[in-house]
Amino acid sequence: MKIMSIFGTRPEIIRLSRIFALLDKNFEHIMVNTSQNYTRELNSVFFDDLSIRKPDYDLKVNTEAYGIEVADVIVKTEKLLKKENPDILLILGDTNSGLSAIPAAHQGIKIAHLEAGMRSYDLRMPEEKNRVMIDHLSTVLLPYTHYSRENLIRENIHPSKIFVVGNPIIEVIEHYMPKIEKSKIFQKLKIKKNEYFLVTAHRSENVDNVKSLKNIFSGLEKIHKKFGKKIIYPIHPRTTSKMKNIEIPKGVQLIDPLGFFDFTYLEKNAFCLLTDSGTVPEETLYFKKPCVTIRESTERPEIIEAGSNILSGLEPENILRATESITSGKPDWQWKEALGDGKTARKVINILHGKLY
Ligand code: UDP
Repeated sequence: MKIMSIFGTRPEIIRLSRIFALLDKNFEHIMVNTSQNYTRELNSVFFDDLSIRKPDYDLKVNTEAYGIEVADVIVKTEKLLKKENPDILLILGDTNSGLSAIPAAHQGIKIAHLEAGMRSYDLRMPEEKNRVMIDHLSTVLLPYTHYSRENLIRENIHPSKIFVVGNPIIEVIEHYMPKIEKSKIFQKLKIKKNEYFLVTAHRSENVDNVKSLKNIFSGLEKIHKKFGKKIIYPIHPRTTSKMKNIEIPKGVQLIDPLGFFDFTYLEKNAFCLLTDSGTVPEETLYFKKPCVTIRESTERPEIIEAGSNILSGLEPENILRATESITSGKPDWQWKEALGDGKTARKVINILHGKLY
């Protein structure tokens, strides 16, 4: 059986890393990097860190503007799907690279969708529109949790197509823990355990709007004043490009995006995280670290229900209040219900091998 995986961003590469290895062992596997995130620090660095083999194709999609990017993904993946004619296309998540589902469905190629069923019900997010489209074009849906499964059933997707497989990030962290523990990032940044906040923010609805971006920095200023701890912020290129009129408050240290081992080491040892990422709240639940999601909505209510995460919105005062609240509890959160059992890769392979769809 021939399986084609198509991906292109940092979180897709990280989450799929353990699954790639098993796909290579079990199937004829064609790996396709769209290079939607095209900088080394958001793409190729993870191939080196996570020992991922060289993809069979690099589509170098044009990311100049939304329409150009989507069109280029569709045109280039259509051509490739015709040439390779895989039995199944495997995609993960909600990026524009996942819109390769459109030409695949058009050609009658079966689609397996990992991370299916997440819904923020917030259509301002480009990702939300992609999630709905991809799920409804898919043949087999592989949500992380029963919460996501319920979302799919409410949208009339037949239960026989849905298999809950858990969150693949757990086995990535567990597999690489010895390397994470060896990180030298503390010496480099001159920081100590629990004495700093770690921040990431790059969602388009947050940083493409100057007011929202200013609010985030104003929230960080209040947090530094209140807690007196350093704030480390590895800044995503999308945010860097929007920083022209933004003043960086005292106590905030902007650094380049980090490799996976250094970043997860910082997560594991931080006092608290603030983020608009989807993956970071999951990783911090695993590490039992408090985390504030700086957004108006979330597609991951499981993480809030687990207790380690709080949704603050974008008002600086609320960002501070949420941080005070989440850091005042006892970090005894349990992760298995929200994140699965860390055996996702094997389940995905079994489902793809089986006669289940
Ligand atoms: N990450 C990283 N270096 C950084 C920031 C994040 O390796 O400087 C990792 C992080 O551990 C997580 C993933 O990148 O696994 C999250 O990516 P991102 O926030 O871009 O995507 P999202 O999860 O929001 O889709």
